Amino acid sequence: KKYVYYFGKTKAEGDAKMKNLLGGKGANLAEMVRLGFPVPPGFTISTEVCKYYYDHGEKYPEELVGEVKAAMEMLEKETGKGFGSAERPLLVSVRSGAAISMPGMMDTILNLGLNNETVKGLINESGNPRFCYDAYRRFLQMFGDVVLKIEHSEFEKALSSVKKEKGVKLDTELDATDMEEVVKRYLEVYKKAGKEFPQDPWEQLWMATNAVFGSWMNERAIKYRALNGVKEGDLLGTAVNVCTMVFGNTGDDSGTGVAFTRDPNTGEKKLYGEYLPNAQGEDVVAGIRTPYPMTKLHEINPAVYDQLLDIFEKLEKHYRDMQDIEFTVEHGTLYLLQTRNGKRTPYASVKIAVDLAKEGLITKEEAVMRVTPDHIETLLHPYFTKETLESAEKLAKGIAASPGAASGVIAFDPETAERMVRDEGKMVILVRPETSPEDIAGMAAAQGILTSTGGKTSHAAVVARGMGKTCIVGCEAVEVDEHAKEMKVNGKILKEGDWLSIDGTTGEVFMGKLDSVKPQGLEGPLAEVLGWADEIRRLGVRTNADTPKDASIARGFGAEGIGLTRTEHMFFQEDRIFAMRQMITSSTLEQRKKALSKLLPMQEDDFYGIFKAMEGYPVTIRLLDPPLHEFLPKEDEDIRDLAKEMGMGYDELKATIEELHEFNPMMGFRGCRLAVVYPEIAEMQTRAIIGAAIKLVKEGMNVIPEIMIPLIIELEELKYVKAIIVKAADEMIREAGVDLVYKVGTMIEVPRAALTADEIAREAEFFSFGTNDLTQMTFGFSRDDYGKFVGHYLEKGILPTDPFQKLDRVGVGQLVKMGTEKGRSTRPDLKVGICGEHGGEPSSVEFCHLVGLNYVSCSPYRVPIARLAAAQAVI
Ligand code: ADP
Ligand code: MG
Ligand code: MG
Repeated sequence: KKYVYYFGKTKAEGDAKMKNLLGGKGANLAEMVRLGFPVPPGFTISTEVCKYYYDHGEKYPEELVGEVKAAMEMLEKETGKGFGSAERPLLVSVRSGAAISMPGMMDTILNLGLNNETVKGLINESGNPRFCYDAYRRFLQMFGDVVLKIEHSEFEKALSSVKKEKGVKLDTELDATDMEEVVKRYLEVYKKAGKEFPQDPWEQLWMATNAVFGSWMNERAIKYRALNGVKEGDLLGTAVNVCTMVFGNTGDDSGTGVAFTRDPNTGEKKLYGEYLPNAQGEDVVAGIRTPYPMTKLHEINPAVYDQLLDIFEKLEKHYRDMQDIEFTVEHGTLYLLQTRNGKRTPYASVKIAVDLAKEGLITKEEAVMRVTPDHIETLLHPYFTKETLESAEKLAKGIAASPGAASGVIAFDPETAERMVRDEGKMVILVRPETSPEDIAGMAAAQGILTSTGGKTSHAAVVARGMGKTCIVGCEAVEVDEHAKEMKVNGKILKEGDWLSIDGTTGEVFMGKLDSVKPQGLEGPLAEVLGWADEIRRLGVRTNADTPKDASIARGFGAEGIGLTRTEHMFFQEDRIFAMRQMITSSTLEQRKKALSKLLPMQEDDFYGIFKAMEGYPVTIRLLDPPLHEFLPKEDEDIRDLAKEMGMGYDELKATIEELHEFNPMMGFRGCRLAVVYPEIAEMQTRAIIGAAIKLVKEGMNVIPEIMIPLIIELEELKYVKAIIVKAADEMIREAGVDLVYKVGTMIEVPRAALTADEIAREAEFFSFGTNDLTQMTFGFSRDDYGKFVGHYLEKGILPTDPFQKLDRVGVGQLVKMGTEKGRSTRPDLKVGICGEHGGEPSSVEFCHLVGLNYVSCSPYRVPIARLAAAQAVI
């Protein structure tokens, strides 16, 4: 069995397809060698070794030592150097890398191979003792920190002491002798910690390898995987990459950088990145020194800059995606150290997918697949309006690292942030000097993140973008005092729990809580890619809307009609509830008709507005559905008022109300049962619907009303209610002398209706699955009470997901499928839709596509997600 894969100057044993085996980093290094790009040679110990290591009590397969030795010999041959050689020492980095990119999750060790002897060889060879001792002390620090778990701060202290004695502030001000002194003190740090620094390079290598494999199971790696939905067992483990060192810290003609082939914030096609002259890789990522924009490299070495541009272009073409690249320049020669698909904001994700399709690098279908429901959700997230911003108190401005608008109370550490969100239900802004992998859970809990240091590729920026969180970094005006739990900013002091608002699009920080608004429509690349989704999808997408305002928002989001208008919501408005209550408590038909006649014009107005907003698309209106007692007055005072208005005694009304009380209202006197008992209600609603439609027809508008009867269980029942509707409607249309086609259909939301759908379809002109009630009744889970126990079902793995969120394909789904098939067996052109909450949930939308429904209907803000999911279901 092969455990080690070599990548050299001209040949590589691995390639990009071997991510599972070599990890992303190893696979892409090999691929870049194949593409002929300058990569320092090295080899990858596969992820299978990691698995073996954990399966066998932290032992390696027997063959491994031999394979590593052989690979090292190849390296020595290719570089002309010797591992442990005192003349021309070969130095390497030891880097982790799993199949998914886990930025900063596991630890890299640079300059491995240095010891008291080899450092002299390096000095002879380079003629630059300052650089050599700097490299050595960096290695001592990383090795001590990562492998031997010596307190990082001990090294910091030792370094500071030398700086203090020398009277300088910056590392760069230390000369060779100083650095040699630092090395000495670092070695003392080891001793003081009771650890021994291994002088033998091979021992260094194996200890580092153990540490990398060990880090696979460290707390932050486990947490990262959990947060990203990676289950233990999904991946074999991490690989270990051993890579010849190249040096960015050998002088001003050297340097190191991180660059994206497109702007990860905006998606714009322009080089975006940071370059730090005379530095080693970690300096940029850790945010210790503030790097320059890439133009700096152009100034220093235009030839290398152009070479990079050319490589970036080729890499994008090859990987067909935006790349995030680490590179180092050593004495004017360029080396690539890593490439991967770059993390980006949701906005940039969509823009890049659209642009790549337009550039012909990917197909429209692929572009559609690259957009996720989460992207859309964040793109439709709130922003601060101009007006809000004008009156807001601006505190500072930092680097805009991840767009969006967020308000929350301040937390200065991740644990507090998590606790405030989880236990106190607060919205939190996490404020830190900088973030590190330990902060991830706190970042995930927060609404937004603000750091006082770091650049655009710092940990906070990269992670926040990946999470789609609003983030500002490098806000230097903010001074964080973590221990005192307060921050100073431009003369103000803010404490934990104070409100703060941040605008990740501009980088501005504001005092207090700012109101944000949601976007009202789609524009730019999102509109474009959803347009492509529309070309691809076969499922229609409608909306659930009860008001003209919601209807027009949904139109803006691309809804092709209304799948559900709930008429009852209209009755809760203050001027109407009174008439409604009057209607309900009427004891005679006369009284009830009188009350209904008050409601009629109001309803007609509503429907008029909704039809109009829907611009000629079909509008499905459901007749009154909830149990009547929901509308009844509960306060004594209200009862008294109502009694007076109706000329009833208080006691008489009170008794009526009590009579209407139900033990199990969800299965009680509701839905079409109301129409069966009080046909005049259905008649009034029909008159309101048809009346509004006739008005609009007369105004020259196309109107398609679909009247929907809720909670049907039986053909005879449907016949009875439908007759009431048809009689009223036809009479009105005849009298008005207009051309108006309307439909009468039913909801399928009681299992019996699904079971008898073939009969019901004899009268129903369309079906709409009300999957909220259908789930409730199929499971026998009360929608209002299941929260008490569903958590246990999920935890214990009895149910895979919450059936009210994700349609239960096995049970409820079977009823949907059967109901559709049965219905169409009677009426082949039967239109079938779904109007429960599931209509905007991607997996449920996919199911609706698979069983051949005509459309899904969901709340306005879910419409774009449904359009996307419907297209993805086809691809
Ligand atoms: P991460 O996965 O955290 O990015 P890396 O293994 O990529 O860790 O390395 C951390 C830093 O060290 C990066 O900036 C990288 O470019 C640099 N680096 C890694 N290996 C080498 C090497 N052989 N020569 C020079 N720099 C290196
Ligand atoms: Mg890296
Ligand atoms: Mg229902």
